[in-house]
Amino acid sequence: MGGSSRDWDSRARRYKRSRGPSWSQGPMPGMAFAKQGLRWRLLAEGHSAHLPAWQQRRAIALAFRRWSEVAPLSFQEDSSSPGNEIDIRLGFGTGRHLGCPWLFDGPGGELAHTAQPGEIHLDDDEPFSVSPSDHGVNLLQVALHEIGHVLGLPHLSSPDSVMNPLYPTTGGSMELDWQDRRAIQELYGKCEGPFDTVFDWVRKGWSGQQEEPVIQFSTYFLRGDRYWLYDNRQGRPRRGDPRSLEQGWRGLPTGGVDAYLHIWTTDIDRAYFFKGTQYWRYNRDADQTFIKDGEAERYPQCISEGFPGIAGPLDTAVFLQQRRLIYFFKGHQVWAYNVSRQLTLEGFPKSLEDVFPALVPNDHPKGNLDAAYYSYSHRALFLIKGLYCWEVSTGGDGENALQPQRRVAEQWQDLCDVHPSSTVDR
Ligand SMILES: [Zn+2]
Ligand SMILES: [Zn+2]
Repeated sequence: MGGSSRDWDSRARRYKRSRGPSWSQGPMPGMAFAKQGLRWRLLAEGHSAHLPAWQQRRAIALAFRRWSEVAPLSFQEDSSSPGNEIDIRLGFGTGRHLGCPWLFDGPGGELAHTAQPGEIHLDDDEPFSVSPSDHGVNLLQVALHEIGHVLGLPHLSSPDSVMNPLYPTTGGSMELDWQDRRAIQELYGKCEGPFDTVFDWVRKGWSGQQEEPVIQFSTYFLRGDRYWLYDNRQGRPRRGDPRSLEQGWRGLPTGGVDAYLHIWTTDIDRAYFFKGTQYWRYNRDADQTFIKDGEAERYPQCISEGFPGIAGPLDTAVFLQQRRLIYFFKGHQVWAYNVSRQLTLEGFPKSLEDVFPALVPNDHPKGNLDAAYYSYSHRALFLIKGLYCWEVSTGGDGENALQPQRRVAEQWQDLCDVHPSSTVDR
């Protein structure tokens, strides 16, 4: 490595080597905290001389938020509680600072260190900046790294890891990479469900002379009045999610929905949300629910009127485009509904276990599903309940047989319930 690269925190590493196990306060090696909700404070006597206080606090709050986006941790700024209730204290200082046994070394060299459990010191002889384009030392980048340490992470080898021991000489990533994510999850676990409903928002397009439409889709996970947009290629949600349902889906009932259906065939193209005994038609072009559709239809409507033979509240529902039918789920029962003829198929409702038999005996959700999700990314239907999902087989193992259960968090990563940044500031 280039000798000119700046060390993040050489002294912290020395400290950790000599004191080793005393670093860990939690029940697992490396896990610094045994709880998920942590309070932090920028010490009153430890503000930077280079930046306005609000910029310092905002950069630090954002660094905490980044970690809470990938692990079941929440961080709250607290500037008023007694000091012994604060889990993570941060302060800037120069030379001899903040009662710390380790001196800072002036400009260059060491940028910051973790002095004792729960304490982060930043060398204020560095030209700290909050602008990524500046030539200074980016405060967000340093805070991400030091918070990683304070949470119990060692240095990591991936060049894009924020826990790489060398501060990037050219504009480093301000994002946690896969190695950071996996390392923090080994200590604190993965974020887990349950979810109210999961669906792909499908758009059809035609390209060139192809006869089959080109399918584009976006994946959404909904819980209560919040939602995540999931990036299947990156294997993580969009940055900054979850967002409020109200923001992204105008006109939905408050508190969340039971199901979403997008019915599309050669002559039908309609989207619906279901909640309780009612349903709303969704205007995909205007991105809001229909209030009224012509003279006849006013929304919300009663499910039993729009879908004869089906009564809410439903657990969930899914439209299978290839079979041109809807499955409605409620308790232990399933209804298969023909969308063209608008009627329930003969013999339904049937029991969930009859329609979707377990491949491995007893490895089955039995009933009361949270979601039935057709994933265009996996080209497969999943039944989801609580923290688990079952993929539905289409071939060899028998039509509709349920594969052994997997954790939802293994299939779809990092759907973390990040709370809007909150401050205790009395
Ligand atoms: Zn370090
Ligand atoms: Zn120090």
